[in-house]
Amino acid sequence: MTLTLTLLGTGTSTGVPMIGCECAVCTSTDPRDRRDRTAAMVEYTDPAGAPRRVLIDTSPELRQQMIRHRVMAIDGVVYTHNHADHIFGLDDLRRFNTVQQQPIDIYAEPRVIESFRHTFRYIFDPQKNVNDSFVATLIAHPIEPGRPLNLHGVEWLPLRLLHGKLPVVGFRVGKLAYCTDVSSIPPETWPHLEGLDLLVLDALRYRHHPTHLTIDQALQVIDQVQPKRAYLTHVAHDVKHADLEPKLPEHVYLAYDGLTLQTS
Ligand SMILES: [Zn+2]
Ligand SMILES: [Zn+2]
Ligand SMILES: [Zn+2]
Repeated sequence: MTLTLTLLGTGTSTGVPMIGCECAVCTSTDPRDRRDRTAAMVEYTDPAGAPRRVLIDTSPELRQQMIRHRVMAIDGVVYTHNHADHIFGLDDLRRFNTVQQQPIDIYAEPRVIESFRHTFRYIFDPQKNVNDSFVATLIAHPIEPGRPLNLHGVEWLPLRLLHGKLPVVGFRVGKLAYCTDVSSIPPETWPHLEGLDLLVLDALRYRHHPTHLTIDQALQVIDQVQPKRAYLTHVAHDVKHADLEPKLPEHVYLAYDGLTLQTS
C-alpha cells in the first residue's frame, strides 16, 4: 500500500514569518523559510479502489492549504491535541460538508473532543445558536493511544507522546509515523516506532524548550529509532532552512510547506 504524505504546514504556533519580526528568517526570500502552522494530509487508495484523504490537524491556515493543494474532498480528520495552532481551521471543514454533501468524521482523544464542545460550541451545540447559522457537521469519534483505528481499510495507530506535561498523540500508518508537538516519548511508544520508512518529528529550534524537542534532541530520537528517512517539522524562526539542511545527518531532512513524500 502506497501512502502519500503532504506536509501542509511545518511551522511553530506563531507561523514563520512571525507578526512583528524582521529577523533574517522572517524576512527570508527562500520559500522554505515560510512556514504555516503544522498540519499534514495522508492519501491512499482504499480496498475498493477509491482515493482517500485524511487530514492530521486543522491549522489556522487550513483554507489556504486546501486551496493550494486543490483538495476537493476529505475522508476524515485525526487530531493530535487541542492547541490553537492545530485546531483553529476546524471551522473551514464546513466547506467540505457542502462540497461532499455529507458529514465529516473527526477523531480525537475524549478530552480534545470535550474541548471542541467549548471552543466551537456553535458547531457542537447548534440548537443554542441565535440564528440558524451554516455550521460544520462533524461526527466526533474518541480515540485511545495503542488502540488502532480502521480508516477506510487502513490501520491508524494513535501513539502516546508527551508535549511538556500534556499527553498528546502522534500517529503511525503503515511504515510512516507523524509525531509533532512532542518533548518526550514514553516507554510504551518506542516499540511502535520500529521499522519505519518515514518519521516526521517535532524539532522546534536549537535552544531548549519545555514542550518541544530541540533539533539535537530530535536527532537523538531519530538515531534511536533508525527510520529510513526522517523529516523535522514544527520549526520556529530561529532556523534558516539553507543553514541547517546541509548540517543534518544522512537521511535526515528539514521539512518545508508543501513537501510531498511517499512511503509503502
Ligand atoms: Zn503546535
Ligand atoms: Zn523572526
Ligand atoms: Zn501544541
